[in-house]
Amino acid sequence: MSFKSLEVIEPILQALEDEGYSNPTPIQSQAIPIVLQKKDLLACAQTGTGKTAAFAIPILQLLAAKPKDPKRRKVKCLVLTPTRELAIQIGESFAAYGKNVDLLHTVIFGGVGQNPQVNAIRNGVDILVATPGRLLDIIQQGFLSLHNVELFVLDEADRMLDMGFIHDVKRLLTLLPEQKQSLFFSATMPNEIVKLANTILKNPSKVAVTPVSSTVEIIQQFIYFVDKGNKQKLLLELLKNEAIKTVLVFTRTKHGADKVVKVLVANGITAEAIHGNKAQNARQRALTNFKNQTTRVLVATDIAARGIDVDELAYVINYEMSNIPETYVHRIGRTGRAGAAGTAYSFCDAEEKAYLKDVEKLIAKKIPVIDNHPFPLVDHHPVKEAKPTFEKRKFNPKFKNQKKAK
Ligand code: AMP
Repeated sequence: MSFKSLEVIEPILQALEDEGYSNPTPIQSQAIPIVLQKKDLLACAQTGTGKTAAFAIPILQLLAAKPKDPKRRKVKCLVLTPTRELAIQIGESFAAYGKNVDLLHTVIFGGVGQNPQVNAIRNGVDILVATPGRLLDIIQQGFLSLHNVELFVLDEADRMLDMGFIHDVKRLLTLLPEQKQSLFFSATMPNEIVKLANTILKNPSKVAVTPVSSTVEIIQQFIYFVDKGNKQKLLLELLKNEAIKTVLVFTRTKHGADKVVKVLVANGITAEAIHGNKAQNARQRALTNFKNQTTRVLVATDIAARGIDVDELAYVINYEMSNIPETYVHRIGRTGRAGAAGTAYSFCDAEEKAYLKDVEKLIAKKIPVIDNHPFPLVDHHPVKEAKPTFEKRKFNPKFKNQKKAK
C-alpha cells in the first residue's frame, strides 16, 4: 500500500515524501479513500496513529481541485479541535502536506490576543483550524461566517466532551450549512459521543484502528462478577490487601470518579480523582502524590488517564467496564510496563457482561473469574450481545477497504 495507490495527487505525494512518509498508516489507508469519495466518516483512532494526515491529506486534495474564490478566500473547511496544542499541530500538518498546493490555512485558539487571528481571517483562508471557544467569540463579533464550509472535521470528540466543550460544539454545528461533508474522530466512543456522531454524520463510513498491546500478554487479569450496588464494598475489600500499595482505578464518568474517591476517603484510604473537570495543576498535583505514594488510589476517567505514565504501577482496577473493548486494553496497559508484573481486576455487573464478552473477543482469551468473594452477583442476567455502538473494522465484513488496507 502506497499513498500513490490511494490516488493522492502528485503535489501532495511530493510533500509527503519530503516529510519522510513512505507508506500510509492503517488509519490513513482506510480513511483517505472514503474522504476522497466525499463520504462522511466516523473514525475511532487515537493520537499517534497518523489520524491528522488521515483527514488533512484528502481535504487538501479535495479543496485543491476546486476553483479558487475570485476575491477573498472564504472558509471552506473547518477543523474543530479541543486544545491549542492540537490546533497548532494540525495547522503545521496542513502547512507541511499542503506546501505544493495553493490553499491558505490559519489556526485560531484562545489564551492569546485575537487581532492577528482576525487579520488572518480577513485576508482570506480556505482551511480554518480552531478551538471552539475562540471560534464562537470571533463569529459572535461578526469577523467570520461559516456559511461556505463544505468540509467539517470534529477532532478528538471525546476530549471535547471531557473538557466541557460540547455545548460550544453544538452551537457551532447550528452555524454550519446543512449540506457538507463531515469527518468525526474520537479515540473512544462512549454513548454520548455516539449520539453526537449520529446527529452530525449522514450515513458515515466507519473505520477503527485497534491498538495492539503486547503488554496485555504479561498482565494477570481477573474478573469479579458483582452487583453494581456492591462495587464500593468490593473495592474496599480488595484494598484490605496491603500488597496493593498503589492502584489506578477506572470509572466511566467524572461523577463516578468523584463518588469512588469520596467513599475511599471516608474509609480512611488516601484517594484522589483525576479528570477533565479538574484544573491542570490539580491534576498534576494528584499525579505527583500518586507517584510518590502519598496517595494510594488514583481514580481516573479514560481520557484523563491518557497521559499517565507511572513506573512500577502494579495494579489497575476497572471499577466499571467500558463499552469499548479497546479501552480495556488501554486501561490495563497502564500496568505491566517494560515487562514488570501487573495485575488488572475488573468489576463486572450484570449489565456489563456483554462488554466483557467483547473484551474477550478482542484479546482472544477468556479472563479468569474470581468467584470466592463476599459480594457475588445476585442479579443473574443472561449474557446478551452488546449493542454495537461502533462497528470495528476487524469484525465488519461489509467494510470495503479492510482487505486492501492490510
Ligand atoms: P497523529 O496521530 O496525527 O498525531 O500523528 C502522529 C505522528 O505520526 C506525527 O508526528 C506524524 O508526523 C507522523 N505520521 C503521520 N503519518 C505518517 C506516515 N504515513 N508515515 C510516517 N509518519 C507519519
